Amino acid sequence: MKVLVVEDEPKLAEYLRKALTQSSYVVDVVADGLSGLHLAREQAYDLIVLDVMLPQLDGFGVLSALRKSSHVPVLMLTARDSIEDRVKGLQRGADDYLVKPFALSELLARVQALLRRGGMSASTPLEPAMLVLDDLEVDLIRRRATRGGQRLDLTAKEFTLLTLLLRRRGEVLSRTVLAEQVWDMNFDSNINVVEVAVRRLRAKLDQAFDRKLLHTVRGMGYVLERRDE
Ligand code: CA
Repeated sequence: MKVLVVEDEPKLAEYLRKALTQSSYVVDVVADGLSGLHLAREQAYDLIVLDVMLPQLDGFGVLSALRKSSHVPVLMLTARDSIEDRVKGLQRGADDYLVKPFALSELLARVQALLRRGGMSASTPLEPAMLVLDDLEVDLIRRRATRGGQRLDLTAKEFTLLTLLLRRRGEVLSRTVLAEQVWDMNFDSNINVVEVAVRRLRAKLDQAFDRKLLHTVRGMGYVLERRDE
């Protein structure tokens, strides 16, 4: 599986290269839109990870030009959760979106989902587009979480946090792990931020329900699981 990353932030680009390489993808990285378009036309990629704000030619420009000749799956990276950006990208033929900053697990899940949708992935271990625990359902493609059929109104961070806990359900995740995975490598982890976010997530996830799913393990961290009491 060959992936092209078009991203001009050196740190993030390097992070993506490492992460995708570790997941056994062959990765090319370029830092501007024109180089990205050029390479995308020359080489056969299975997927393109495309930043929106790029020098020379922005992500929308790359996408518009690319779609004239190619149906390669495109995952766009946007800096903010802007509906206009989403609509603009989708109209130009983007297949999916990720809002920065994102957790690595989230990126890999999207990449796998797109490759699977393209019907290509034979060797990569796949993850379902929907994660389910008890009456909690998380739709990774539409980025929607429901509990007992009720939509949970989560922020992007809370969604990422929930997804991570859900993927590793039954496993106690420390605040440090959560800080690294959810709050990105670019920032100094602030444990307090994690605690506040977990509290908010818990209020949305568990408050209205008798059966709690998000548990604190004193001195260790948090675990998402169904406990029959
Ligand atoms: Ca950028």
